Amino acid sequence: MKNIKVIEKKGIYPGKNVVVLAGVHGNESFGVRMLEKVIPNLKIVRGKVNFIFANLEAIKQDKRFVEYNLNRCFYKNQPVKIVNTLEGKTAREIIPYLDEADLMLDVHASNNPESVEFVICMPQSFEFANILPFEKVSWNWDEFEPGSTDYYMNLQKKVGICIECGYTKDKESEKRGEKALMNFLINSGSINGYFIGLKKQTYFKIVDLYKNKNVFKKFKDFDDFGKLNDKTLIGFDGDKKVYANEGDFLLFVKDSDNLGDECFLVAREETLLNKESLNKEKRNGE
Ligand SMILES: [Zn+2]
Repeated sequence: MKNIKVIEKKGIYPGKNVVVLAGVHGNESFGVRMLEKVIPNLKIVRGKVNFIFANLEAIKQDKRFVEYNLNRCFYKNQPVKIVNTLEGKTAREIIPYLDEADLMLDVHASNNPESVEFVICMPQSFEFANILPFEKVSWNWDEFEPGSTDYYMNLQKKVGICIECGYTKDKESEKRGEKALMNFLINSGSINGYFIGLKKQTYFKIVDLYKNKNVFKKFKDFDDFGKLNDKTLIGFDGDKKVYANEGDFLLFVKDSDNLGDECFLVAREETLLNKESLNKEKRNGE
């Protein structure tokens, strides 16, 4: 039985093959609502767009996933522990669409009301990240969190973008997701129109993922993408104090009893787009 629903829309002119995903995490239902609202009125002019509602079972149960995080299942050869899970099979239903696609947009949201909205992609997708209505663009996730839909597109050097649109129950998240989808489809040539909601953007390179060796307790609450002005105590891994450095940005700091869990990420403000200013920074640091 299929665990995805696909709606294909074609233009009359040749063009790009685009995949748009929602519901990769079943409890981020806003993406599904947004697509259901938008699709009937969309007039695809060039190429083809496959809208994929992923993980229908998790959507039905309003759960992030049923057996395994679907957004860690996208591999050419799936690890053994994934292969027979519902999500492993679901990824294999989606992968043929990604294999034939030129570009992919994966729509996510958070269940945390405090969450910050941001883009995830690699430098080959910056040209698309640029025109999305987001102030924060993060990159270099793949070495720390492989197996995502964008990871799979990156393997093939294609454009793959994941958007974290904010709190899933916030109307603004839905509007942001809709604007992002429209701008993405305009930039791919799939539809005609004008970009809306462009933002001045900051680029963050993910440079570290902290995994705990004992029970991890955070020292205090940290804002996502909050900048550290000094070397800062982040938490305790058993008895050991865990620090991050001046100039680091922190993401998703959380307590964890599960050893080897993802306790927090560290990012640096850095982009490949503006090579000159990067070189300047380097010279200043010498
Ligand atoms: Zn998600």
